[in-house]
Amino acid sequence: MEIHEAQTVLEPAKTLPVCAKVDVAVVGAGPAGMMAALAAAEDGLKVALIENRGFVGGNLTIGLPILGFLSQKGKPIIAGLPQKLIDRLKARNAAGPHQACPLHVSLTLIEPEAVKAVGLEMLAERGVDLMLNTMFCGVLMDGNRIGALIVESKSGREAIFADLIIDGTGDGDVAFQSGVPCEKGSEQGKMQPPTLMFCLGGVDTERLRMSLANEPETYDADFIPAGYFGQNRRFIVVGLRKLITQARAEGFVIPNERTIIISGLREGEVWINMTRVKGIDGTESRSLTAGEIETRGQIDDLFRYLVGYVPGFEKAFVSKVAPFLGIRETRRIVGQYTMTGDDIRNCCRFDDAIAVGSYPIDLHSPDGNDCKLEWCGDCYDIPYRSLVPQQVENLLVAGRSISTTHEAMAAIRVMSTCMAMGEAAGRAAKMCIREKVSPVDLDVHKLQKEMLNCGAYLRSQPE
Ligand SMILES: Cc1cc2nc3c(=O)[nH]c(=O)nc-3n(C[C@H](O)[C@H](O)[C@H](O)COP(=O)(O)OP(=O)(O)OC[C@H]3O[C@@H](n4cnc5c(N)ncnc54)[C@H](O)[C@@H]3O)c2cc1C
Repeated sequence: MEIHEAQTVLEPAKTLPVCAKVDVAVVGAGPAGMMAALAAAEDGLKVALIENRGFVGGNLTIGLPILGFLSQKGKPIIAGLPQKLIDRLKARNAAGPHQACPLHVSLTLIEPEAVKAVGLEMLAERGVDLMLNTMFCGVLMDGNRIGALIVESKSGREAIFADLIIDGTGDGDVAFQSGVPCEKGSEQGKMQPPTLMFCLGGVDTERLRMSLANEPETYDADFIPAGYFGQNRRFIVVGLRKLITQARAEGFVIPNERTIIISGLREGEVWINMTRVKGIDGTESRSLTAGEIETRGQIDDLFRYLVGYVPGFEKAFVSKVAPFLGIRETRRIVGQYTMTGDDIRNCCRFDDAIAVGSYPIDLHSPDGNDCKLEWCGDCYDIPYRSLVPQQVENLLVAGRSISTTHEAMAAIRVMSTCMAMGEAAGRAAKMCIREKVSPVDLDVHKLQKEMLNCGAYLRSQPE
């Protein structure tokens, strides 16, 4: 066959070096994966953490505030290791308080660069074998168990042996490669659009918040009463729809119905969550590339819009762009239990709760430029069974790709909840190794007791 007609090639089998032999391998060092590795390594197990970027933190490093440390009733619902990370950041003046927000339940501002440093520090203290710039790309199956993970890096293709694996990739990469049934997006397969965050310096945030507080007719915010801005120096504003309409009429291309500004921790700094591109599949390289290019191209007009129309931005400049395109949604595993939108709406309690969430269903329209929010008024549990995949015996999943529907994912995806799930998965993995059982057979009440002893928050005390 002529080379230009070939659609596939046959790669010859080759012998791979084994680069690590561990008890637990965690793939992905985002909010879920980092907490999972820290929890699993707590009392001396050998734990490897595999991350394809050159730093840890995942979406904790792209300029987002952490949402959901507090419940809709204002109560702290995330404690344990996630709170320890915040305490370390606070000690460096790199995290704000958990602040109630009428729209986002609660926000905790963090300094992205400090997350990378503090994350490394905590992982080193626990002796986690960290492999940066290393991409998980496949598995060797041994019946229903993952026999080895295959990774690729500058060192080439290598294998890792682990008794238990935690998938913290956000995309369910390990689950998918090992044959766990997975779903993507809505029933029509449509996924929430990605956003490339960017940061501006030189913003007069006092002028901005006073305009929001004193001229709500002109500077209209969604849901958040004007008085909130008068009382809080740090805030997220979502809205200014009238300004967008005006700017569009004057020729600006704005890919979002809402102006979304997150005040930073540093004086004059704000993060902008407004680029957006539809139809991107974050599990496909060509699609991701198109998303990176399109969103970067949107920054110029958005910047000019902010400077020209929004009070306080007159002297602003673009100081940095997030290190990668933020992906809201890709794969979700089908696990032992699939959380639904109604579980969130009904504030469901589960006997096997391993974390508590309270963030609303926050669905960014895959087709349009807007967003739908649904509050349930209180908290809901995250059941352990949603972290346990079907089919594969030595795998747990934590983070946004646990077993949920498209709707439920839009609530449990916030980083505080992902961190709490990560801690649970890490502790569960450790218990599975110590007790020589599979995740599906783990005594969840024992896990709950361990979690509570270690400072995590759960609503019910196990018997
Ligand atoms: C634009 C945007 C705005 C958002 N706003 C907020 C907000 O304001 N507050 C909030 O709390 N949440 C917000 N979210 C949601 C939240 O950021 C994510 O749902 C959450 O970070 C998911 O955590 P995770 O640990 O599952 O995955 P991630 O944070 O995505 O981390 C996954 C990690 O795995 C690594 N990885 C992936 N694949 C591989 C592989 N094959 N091999 C090795 N490593 C791999 C990645 O590099 C990454 O470090 C937002 C999300 C987006 C995209």
